[in-house]
Parts: sequence; C-alpha cells; structure tokens
Amino acid sequence: MSDTDDIQTVGVLGGMSSESTVTYYRQINAGINDALGGHGAGEVLIRSVNFATIEHFIRTEQFGRAGEYLGEAAQALERGGAAFIVMATNTMHRVASAIDSAISIPFVHIVDVAAAAIREADIGTVGLLGTTTTMEEPFYRERLADHGIDVVVPEQSERAEINRIIFEELTKGVVSEVSRERYLDAVDAMGAMGAEGIVLGCTEIEMLIEQADRPAMPLFDTTALHVERAVEMSLDGQ
Ligand code: GLU
Repeated sequence: MSDTDDIQTVGVLGGMSSESTVTYYRQINAGINDALGGHGAGEVLIRSVNFATIEHFIRTEQFGRAGEYLGEAAQALERGGAAFIVMATNTMHRVASAIDSAISIPFVHIVDVAAAAIREADIGTVGLLGTTTTMEEPFYRERLADHGIDVVVPEQSERAEINRIIFEELTKGVVSEVSRERYLDAVDAMGAMGAEGIVLGCTEIEMLIEQADRPAMPLFDTTALHVERAVEMSLDGQ
C-alpha cells in the first residue's frame, strides 16, 4: 500500500475526554492496519477541545453554547480535509443537530451506530449507562426509540454515582475496583428491570467493564462500535 488517497480521512472531534480520544486514535489505526496490513494506518485528523469548557457547559446546562463551540470545532475538521466526523463522546450528542448543521460532511451519530448493533442482536430493550445527561435527557432514549429500541436506566441515586465516577474518575484515567463493582451492580439491576443488553453509553466505560465481566448479558461498547464504523467508512473509498 503506497497510495494514501485510497482511504478517507477520519475526523475525530475529541477531548471529551482525552482518555477516550486516545482509545479512538489507537483503535482506528489498529482497525485500518488489520485491513491493510504492513505499515498501514489511518488518515486521521483530531480536533481535541478543552474538556473543562465542555464539563462547565454540561453542569450549567448551556447546551446552546456547547453546540456553537463544537460546531466551530467540527468546521475546523472539515476545513482540514476530514471526509466525515465521529464525535468521541455520547453526552455531547445532546447537541448533534447543531454540529451536523454547521458542516457539509457526514456526521456519524453514535446512537445510530449502537442501534444498528442492538437490532442485529435482535434485542428490543436495553439498559443504558452514561452521564446523567445521557441517561435522563430525552435525546439518547428517543433516538434509540426511533430505531424501535426501549430503554431502562438505573435508579436515581445510582445514576448520580455512575455520573460521579465518569467525571471524577474515568475522564481522569482513574479505574477503581469499587467503581467496577458499582457498575456491574447497575448492569445486574437493569437486567432485573428487563434489559436484554446494556449500552455502555459513555466512551470511557470500556476502561471499567468488559463483556467477560458479564458473559450472559450482551454489552454494547459505543467506543468500539463507533470506531468500527469509522474504519469501515474510511476504507470505503478503496
Ligand atoms: N465521554 C463521555 C461520554 O461518552 C462523558 C464525557 C462527556 O461529557 O463528554 O458521554
């Protein structure tokens, strides 16, 4: 392989957090290498934003400003030559339409990618783990419902703790055994509520729990699924 024009440039809107953006970068390159072999690697542009700004917008519910900020960052990826954009966070898909309307290249929505995998597994009800924004606001649940998928979420006190672990631990690269047990308890509780599978609806959760922890409950890792789609789209130009 010598002609890089054959693969399309992946635009990664990242930094939310940098921990998961590193995973996207590594996995995109690994996926492209699997397909091309040799020294094959991705054509990748990353626009990494300041996570403090994003965390502030989330905590103060300034989603209009968040949409403008991320829309401008997405435009920078388009100007830089990205063929399409994956935004490496679930939560900020809260402002997906503002981002999508700021660009003219495709925006690969993480919920659509997760939904395709859930439908392929013939699952109708999933449990959702993520930030409180993701678990409680309609944007995520309604988009899954558009694909014919019902959602259950943990109890309120559990949601607060799950959110705390994301912002105070996972986005800072901290992985703790106590938090792993807490997440697995939430998985079990949602199973008892009728979930047939669990959406790891935060791009850092794959650092904490994995399929082997609950072999009988399908886990949908949004980071891995989003990366897989990005790799497919990049190779599509071949
Ligand atoms: N990366 C996380 C997610 O997928 C949370 C951090 C953020 O708020 O963007 O939702």
